[in-house]
Amino acid sequence: MPINTKGSRHPILKYKPDTLFLEEGIEEYSLTQEILSRLPDVPRQGFQDISTITEQIISSQYDVFGAGKNSLALSRFKGSFLKKCPGISPGMVCCNYYIVSLSKNCIYDCSYCFLQDFLDNNPIQVAYVNIEDLLSELEEVFTQYPDRNFRVGTGELTDSLAIDNIVPYTNHLIPFFNQQSNAVLELKTKSDQISNLLNHSDPTNIIVSWSLNPQTISELEEKGTPSLTQRLEAARACLDKGYRIGFHFDPIILIPGWEAAYKQLVDILCDTLPIDKVEWVSLGSFRYRPNLKSKIINRHPNTHLFNSEHFPGKDGKFRYFRPLRNQAYKTIRGYLTSRSKELSIYLCMETNEIWEDVTGKTPRSDKKLDQFFDL
Ligand code: SF4
Repeated sequence: MPINTKGSRHPILKYKPDTLFLEEGIEEYSLTQEILSRLPDVPRQGFQDISTITEQIISSQYDVFGAGKNSLALSRFKGSFLKKCPGISPGMVCCNYYIVSLSKNCIYDCSYCFLQDFLDNNPIQVAYVNIEDLLSELEEVFTQYPDRNFRVGTGELTDSLAIDNIVPYTNHLIPFFNQQSNAVLELKTKSDQISNLLNHSDPTNIIVSWSLNPQTISELEEKGTPSLTQRLEAARACLDKGYRIGFHFDPIILIPGWEAAYKQLVDILCDTLPIDKVEWVSLGSFRYRPNLKSKIINRHPNTHLFNSEHFPGKDGKFRYFRPLRNQAYKTIRGYLTSRSKELSIYLCMETNEIWEDVTGKTPRSDKKLDQFFDL
C-alpha cells in the first residue's frame, strides 16, 4: 500500500489496491464499471467464493487484517442492507440510528479499530456493487413507515468517504436521499475525499460528520489518516456547499495531558468553523471488547491506549473507570459549551447514569436532544 509522507509529519495515504478481486457476474452492475474505469492498471482476478481468497491471505500472512486492506474485492451483497445500529446494546442509550454496510474494512489503520477483531476471519476489503438493490430496499422501508424518521449511516464497518474517489457510492446515495421526506444520510469519516460531494449541487438530507482527535493523539493512534487540519478544511468546504456537518470526538483517549490536548482541539475547531452552524458534537470514550486488546497490542506495539486501566460495563465492553469518564466528558463538554451555548452535544454508547452525571438530565428529558434522537 503506497504511503505518501512527503511534506507532512503525518503519513497521508494515497490508496490504490494491489489487486482487484471480482466476483463472477458483477460486471453487469454500473458501479463495477465505474470502479474499473478508475483503476485501469490494477491487476484483476475473478472469484466465485470469497472464502477462497480469504483463506489464501490468512494462510500466507502474519498481519492478516493489515494484508486485507491491500486488496479490494468487488462483490454482490445478498442479505438485507438496512440494520439498526448496534448501539442498542444492554444498558446503553440508543440514538435511533440505522446502518447500511456497503463495504467492509478500511484503508486507514487506527490502533483502536474494532474491525481488527470483528473482521478477524474475514479481513479482505470488500465493496458491494449492487447499489440498485440497496436503493430499492431503502425506498420500500421508508415508504412502508412514513411516520418514522430514518437516520442512516454507512460508516459502521468502514470509513464512509475514504475511497469515495475509487468507489463513488455518494454519487448514487446523495441524489436518492435528496428525494426522501423521512430520511437523512450520515457520512461519517476521517477523510478529506469530498470531491464527489462538492460536485453535487443538492445537499438536502445529507449530514457529513468527521471523527476528530487532537493531532498528537491522531499521530499516535490513527495511522494513514488525514491530519486534523485537512479534516477541518474538508468540513469547511462541505459547510460552504450547504451540507449539514457534525463531529465525533470519539474515541476520546486519555493520555497524560489530555485536558490541554482536547482544549486545543476545541479551540482549533471553533476558530476554524462557525461552531453555531455545526449540527452536533458527539463524545464517546475509548471502549473495546475483551478479544480486541491482544490484537491491538500485536499490531500496534507502540500504542498508548492501555496506559490507563479499563473496566467491563453492562454491555461487556471495557471502558475507563466511570469517574474518569465523567470527568473527561464534563471537561470536554465544558470546553465546547464555553464556545457555544447552543451547540448540541451528545454521548455515544453511554449509560443513562453517565448522561445524568455529565449533563444533569437523561437524553429523552431534554427537548433539543429528544428531537435529535427522533431525527
Ligand atoms: S477510520 Fe474507522 S474504520 Fe477506518 S481504521 Fe480508523 S476506526 Fe477503523
